[in-house]
Amino acid sequence: MEKDAGQLFVVATPIGNLDDFTFRGAAILKEADLILCEDTRISKRILEKIGVKNKLMVFNARNESRRISEILTKLKRGLKVALISDAGTPAISDPGVRLINACQLQGIPVSGTPGASAAIFALSISGIPTDSFVFEGFLPNKKGRQKKITEILLEKRTVVIYESVYRIIKLLEELKEKAPERFVAVARELTKKFEEVKRGKPAELIDYFAKNKVKGEFVVIIAPEGWQPK
Ligand code: SAM
Repeated sequence: MEKDAGQLFVVATPIGNLDDFTFRGAAILKEADLILCEDTRISKRILEKIGVKNKLMVFNARNESRRISEILTKLKRGLKVALISDAGTPAISDPGVRLINACQLQGIPVSGTPGASAAIFALSISGIPTDSFVFEGFLPNKKGRQKKITEILLEKRTVVIYESVYRIIKLLEELKEKAPERFVAVARELTKKFEEVKRGKPAELIDYFAKNKVKGEFVVIIAPEGWQPK
């Protein structure tokens, strides 16, 4: 790597509440020559609030592989490039892994700032054992979904899943069917106005969430088999 090569900064952004922006994350974004983001409309709104007006480039699941060589060229020319997601930590159920791997392979320095990630925050406020856990991200929508759920329910560790509003009831129904006694926590709208964590058996959670027609973003935490709150 040449002496004045650039650097890739992987910067976590808030998952809802903008006050969760870190000072260092904001400073890095202000200094970056280029900010890679999934959706310029979403990121512009957030960045304007912290006074960042730097150049944005769309970098998302659809164009990640096409953009990598162009970004590597910029980094090799000495640019400081920051990578952000719509919300939370880049590369965690979000684009970035391939770019970060390419930088690591080519000796381009990669750093950044840690910050919010819905999975870790949900786990930390769930009260379900955190000593050993598995992050599954989003489950497949169709093919392989039932097999995956069956595997997850055999897991000896706590399991963390991301789920959308369209499938949260479906997932709870599937858990009710396969493991009606399993203890589950559903964390919704974390750090936002309607944040809540509901805990119980799948049937109890279905009652609550279906009755209240809740919306938003969800993290589902499945306790290890046999674990119940005392
Ligand atoms: N990279 C992000 C992170 O570090 O949390 C995750 C991005 S993933 C595309 C988006 C999913 O994360 C949502 O569908 C939801 O499951 C979860 N999520 C993100 N923000 C959330 C929030 N404020 N409350 C609950 N879940 C959230």
